[in-house]
Amino acid sequence: MANAVTASKSPMEESLPSENNWTIAESSALYGLDRWGGKYFSINKLGHIKVSPNGEPSQSLDLMALVKELESRNLRLPLLIRFDDILESRLEELNNAFKQAIVTYRYKGIYQGVFPIKCNQQRHVVEELMTCGRKWHFGLEVGSKAELLIALSLIEDTKALLICNGYKDQKYIETSILARKLGRKPVIVIEQIDEVERIILGSKQLGAAPLIGIRAKLSSKGSGRWGTSIGENAKFGLSIPDILTTVEKLRTANLLNELKLLHFHVGSQINDIAILKDALQEASQIYVELKRLGAPMGYLDVGGGLGVDYDGSQTATTASTNYSLQNYANDVVATIQECCKSNGIEVPTLVSESGRAIASHFSVLVFNILGTDSLCNDIPLENKDECASVRNLRETLSIIKELSKNSEIDISKLQEAWNDAIKFKDDARVAFRLGYLGLHDRAIAEELSWACARELVCCVPHEELIPEELKTLRSSLASTYYANLSIFRSAPDTWAIEQLFPIMPIHRLNEEPDQLGSFADLTCDSDGKLGRFINNGKIKHLLELHKLKPNEDYLIGMFLGGAYQEVMGNLHNLFGSTNAVHIRLSTKGKYQVDHVVRGNTKSDVLQAMEHDPEQLLERLRMASESAIQLGTLKIKDAQRLMEHLENTLHQSTYLQ
Ligand SMILES: *Cc1c(COP(=O)(O)O)cnc(C)c1O
Repeated sequence: MANAVTASKSPMEESLPSENNWTIAESSALYGLDRWGGKYFSINKLGHIKVSPNGEPSQSLDLMALVKELESRNLRLPLLIRFDDILESRLEELNNAFKQAIVTYRYKGIYQGVFPIKCNQQRHVVEELMTCGRKWHFGLEVGSKAELLIALSLIEDTKALLICNGYKDQKYIETSILARKLGRKPVIVIEQIDEVERIILGSKQLGAAPLIGIRAKLSSKGSGRWGTSIGENAKFGLSIPDILTTVEKLRTANLLNELKLLHFHVGSQINDIAILKDALQEASQIYVELKRLGAPMGYLDVGGGLGVDYDGSQTATTASTNYSLQNYANDVVATIQECCKSNGIEVPTLVSESGRAIASHFSVLVFNILGTDSLCNDIPLENKDECASVRNLRETLSIIKELSKNSEIDISKLQEAWNDAIKFKDDARVAFRLGYLGLHDRAIAEELSWACARELVCCVPHEELIPEELKTLRSSLASTYYANLSIFRSAPDTWAIEQLFPIMPIHRLNEEPDQLGSFADLTCDSDGKLGRFINNGKIKHLLELHKLKPNEDYLIGMFLGGAYQEVMGNLHNLFGSTNAVHIRLSTKGKYQVDHVVRGNTKSDVLQAMEHDPEQLLERLRMASESAIQLGTLKIKDAQRLMEHLENTLHQSTYLQ
């Protein structure tokens, strides 16, 4: 249900003095925002993330202000903010890229894409894509009967394709055949050889023929995580002999006339365009051959795989791609055109099933930090009769301080000083073990050695200059930032497949982030952490962050996570879905909240595990009754306990 509320404009963007002369440009470079943010994300003069949902810098929202306003409507963090304008814009970009390529190469066909629904099945998302994709007859791709049900009911455009992939039983096939009678345009893609018989049977029984496609198992080599989606051992698709058998079976059953589409899928997030080119060449040849065998054909579906440049490095590394959207479209159009031309056949309508490329950008996950474990930064005061190791450590600290004042940093002297610090700290440890040093002095020794480490790390300006042994120092000084979040729920791919997403503070970007840290989530799982960050084609294990300020929120955004994360997320430790909102730009500088999707309550997640919340409460009521009888629990306390339990059931699973 539309919950259209118009809110006031974000606060006036006025320049605030920055601390330490740190500039927003430096933040932008540090977090790679200037590389991955594209036209949608940048930083405003207040040092907040600025979102330009339709790519127009003049129509931007202050993400921090937006979060605060949503919070004041009782939408607590963590919060998934979906910018529907970005979704629309990405769809537009994809279609424009193909349009442009078609013009450039004078391709005599059209592009007609579909959205692979598995990428994000949320109702509002699919509805949105169907509405704004209407002008291109944009369709859907499904891989199961449940997805088919969604697609059947949400596609209203009779020209839009409904590509049916995945394992298909008789019911799946019959539903697709009947859908054609309903006026939809389903294409049953044969992925396994035994599906041919079922299609022939279904078609006979229903007296109607479906549109048929074939998924080819290409021999081209894949690469990266999904490399095995292609090649002779791929899970899906027909080998060349299987394709020939299928064609003959269809011919005998009088169905060859319905064979219209050839499909292949190279796997998700193709990093290297060379892989796509190989696959395109091979698939084009198969297409030509199918036509020669007498199938009418008409569509070539190049599958998914169009990648997202998560770190903006434009490289063939896992978090990036060495091609742009336009390069991709150009290669698809040019390769297929060339093959058809040299074989003298008509070019097909081009179909792609690009999910990640459409859905990644539009949602931003914002979470708050509950606290950190950062070490105390104070240097303990000197007292009169300190033991030798403590005195030595103080001396070492002042040497390091002195060294760091020089304009030319002498790394070998620093190394020497650090070796001394380690030695003196060890002396203190030994003295403590042998009973010569009290707990208090040992604490001072430890604090001083940390102070030496901090001083050292601070005075070496570039990480590359730090000798190997000192590098570990940097990470041992790092803090853990406790995040109000479950990565298993909201960023599962960071854990499951070590995917990198851009993660950064959404405010204070005009202040130098002088801490290094990583994030730990709310689950009791030691894997529940975010400790790998984008780094322009590489990976870093610590992120530059700000010191927490008392009574002030510190908010972090995870970007480009609109594809796959929601549905792959799970209920580990019973953390449920977060609140989600759909934001739409309205008139200049304003926005409206189109939909609010409330996150799971504790009652929801308990029921998902077959618990009955009422029964749980009843048991506790009985337990407190007996405790009252025994005299271990006062009536007043029992009341309070039950109140907490009852309230908590209806609240979010996250910390309030
Ligand atoms: C997963 C999948 C897609 C979507 O891939 P993206 O990389 O998200 O574009 C498309 N087609 C098929 C058959 C798939 O399995």
